[in-house]
Amino acid sequence: MIGRIIDLGEKYCPDCERDLPAGEFYKSRATKDGLQSQCRGCKSQRAKKYRKSGHGRETIRKYEATERRHEARRKRYENNRGAKCETMRKYMREYRTTLKGRLAQIFHHINYRCINPNYKQYKDYGGRGIENRFGSLDEFRNYIVGTLGITTFEQIKGLQIDRIDNNGHYGEDNIRFVTPKENSNNRCTKRTKRTEGGKNA
Ligand SMILES: [Zn+2]
Repeated sequence: MIGRIIDLGEKYCPDCERDLPAGEFYKSRATKDGLQSQCRGCKSQRAKKYRKSGHGRETIRKYEATERRHEARRKRYENNRGAKCETMRKYMREYRTTLKGRLAQIFHHINYRCINPNYKQYKDYGGRGIENRFGSLDEFRNYIVGTLGITTFEQIKGLQIDRIDNNGHYGEDNIRFVTPKENSNNRCTKRTKRTEGGKNA
């Protein structure tokens, strides 16, 4: 994979209108040459711009509000260990085996990956300009239930959320649920396709 990228030499970035070494581009599974269209610098510019935009700011504001609520709740339960705390843990465990609870968990993890630079996976998501295009948890749930037709927890039990286009955002028309195995199979398929595309090109 690394050899392949070195072979490519330089690549044109349409945002800064420069020819740059291939190493200046993040990898992508969705393009023929295996690299993203814009260079790393321009990608992070785009992410910065998004964070300053109305929609981006609103997303961050909501995320931070949720974080504050979680933090407050954590503190409350830390100060109140014992039976009550165990009850809450049990409640949360059970909540996450309901459709509503599981979707909430998934939604918050999408936000961690896309918005929180301290999150370990941020560099592969927010750091690459991947956004959560769902404005709220309700919007996300409505899409899953109304459009994807998922109405029971059993339908998504043990499944992971996946972006259909690896370069695309978490948004309508680009998400689906897959098994962890399918998730890794998809990666293999995409990699094979790309290699073939590269040979033909
Ligand atoms: Zn650039």
